[in-house]
Amino acid sequence: MTNVLLRADELHQNYGSLVAVNNFSANIHAGELVGLLGPNGAGKSTTLRMLTGLLQPSKGRVAFNGYDITDDPIDARRQFGYVAEQPMIIPYLTGIEYVEFVAGMYGIDGKTAKRRAEPYIERFHLTDAIHKRADKYSHGMQQKLALTAQLVHEPRLLLADEPTVGLDPDGTVEMQRTFREYVAAGNSILLSTHLLDMAEGLCNRVLILSNGILLDDQLIDDSWLHQHGTLQDYFFKLTREN
Ligand code: ATP
Repeated sequence: MTNVLLRADELHQNYGSLVAVNNFSANIHAGELVGLLGPNGAGKSTTLRMLTGLLQPSKGRVAFNGYDITDDPIDARRQFGYVAEQPMIIPYLTGIEYVEFVAGMYGIDGKTAKRRAEPYIERFHLTDAIHKRADKYSHGMQQKLALTAQLVHEPRLLLADEPTVGLDPDGTVEMQRTFREYVAAGNSILLSTHLLDMAEGLCNRVLILSNGILLDDQLIDDSWLHQHGTLQDYFFKLTREN
């Protein structure tokens, strides 16, 4: 299938004797908004870090749009953006310098970066802060800036680790709007979250992890919800049984 943007095959991660992730396999296609769900310690962040190449898997392979993250790291990295749980803000840079810095890593010039970032800066109400030091921003402002910076190189896939944590209600709504528009344009998102209501409203598919094991890979739509009740009910049933 040509529209597989992410292919993860049998990813495995040990921390000493702890098996944090056990044979995680999943494909993500263009146009999918996929929730990565699971209790604390289930292995969500470890999975995302292996997918992005930040953490070398003990075993397994990852490819983005056909580019293997180990064999073709530069081409693979161009295919995705990553919003980490803790925004990776660089000390002393202003918000706009940070956006330009990240864009520069993908070969995007400063003028283009500013033009592409502008709608997000406005949407996230960062206009007044954008020429101030970003390491002094609040956590929520840093999250918004990190997302903006990761969208400027126009990746086909966005990986986001609990991106709405710390956002105010307006920021949460605007981030969800951003995600919907981005996916409607033919891209895809893998989003780790504990907010099951949000996942139910936003995602068309969920991956449910528990104790490092992928328990379920489930398409969710109105007829599925009609059959199973809320995603929260389904999640509790599954994760409490396993
Ligand atoms: P949360 O929802 O709390 O953020 P998570 O699903 O993202 O959790 P991970 O952070 O991936 O879970 O952790 C999975 C397991 O691996 C946990 O038992 C955690 O304690 C362990 N772990 C994570 N990182 C390390 C590390 N660097 N060294 C040792 N153990 C780790």
